Amino acid sequence: MNAFILRLDLIHPVIAGNKWFKLKYHLKAALEANSRGLLTFGGAWSNHLVATAAAAASAGLPVIGVVRGERPATLSPTLQDAENAGMELFFVSRAEYAGEDQLHQAMLERFPGFHLIPQGGQSSLGVRGAAEILQLVPDLANYSYIACAAGTGTMMAGLVEASIPHQQVLGFSSLKLGDTVNNSLTTFLDQQTSVKNYQFIWQYHFGGYGRKTTSLTDFMRELYQRTGIPTDIVYTGKMIYGLNKMAEEDLFSPQTRLLVIHSGGLQGNRSLPEGLLGY
Ligand SMILES: *Cc1c(COP(=O)(O)O)cnc(C)c1O
Repeated sequence: MNAFILRLDLIHPVIAGNKWFKLKYHLKAALEANSRGLLTFGGAWSNHLVATAAAAASAGLPVIGVVRGERPATLSPTLQDAENAGMELFFVSRAEYAGEDQLHQAMLERFPGFHLIPQGGQSSLGVRGAAEILQLVPDLANYSYIACAAGTGTMMAGLVEASIPHQQVLGFSSLKLGDTVNNSLTTFLDQQTSVKNYQFIWQYHFGGYGRKTTSLTDFMRELYQRTGIPTDIVYTGKMIYGLNKMAEEDLFSPQTRLLVIHSGGLQGNRSLPEGLLGY
């Protein structure tokens, strides 16, 4: 089989990868509605928060990032970057953060007139933007599989919508989900896609979201040494590890042409000891 990689990690130093696509129509909606700013949600290593901070700054919009927990004495480098880019960080208790609908309502009451972007950009506007990723691939019809990482599934849903019927989209879950039939990803994909040429790959979560093992980090370091392609421990490292395993297990026919979406975002690697990955 032949594998090709779409390097969305190279399109912008901060709004790298799929985040820019997922934010595009949110920015447009906020500007058209004359919103007071953007309001979104994320954790200490959230690519989405930094990307939203940078996107808001470029559009001249104020932006609030709602983060779970107490404000720590020292911010994570990711949150520090978001704040430096002009994002106002607003910390809420874990209890308050628990229910999404209630949290959204509470934050909109606290910050009226702001345009709300759900955590990770998980929304139909996000899907619409993510569908445009495949416009970057002029010979799209030549691929039989499209592989991506899935956190909220927003990018994956967009890729499914923009894919061609003969293609299969493989979504590598970065979450460890006990129920692989009914969960946040299957539900969202069900709601957001009109075609069903996709498949989830559940087993390469390495212990769960943001978790890692030395076999993962060893693989990522070697991949970088061999190809010069950096990956991250939360998403793309796990996906490419999984694809590599599947290829070793001969799960792809020799005629397969695989398009791998490198969705960018190396924020998660900043939680690692320096030098571990060699990049
Ligand atoms: C955010 C992110 C994802 C997850 O995208 P979803 O649309 O939430 O599934 C995948 N890869 C990278 C590098 C990311 O930063």
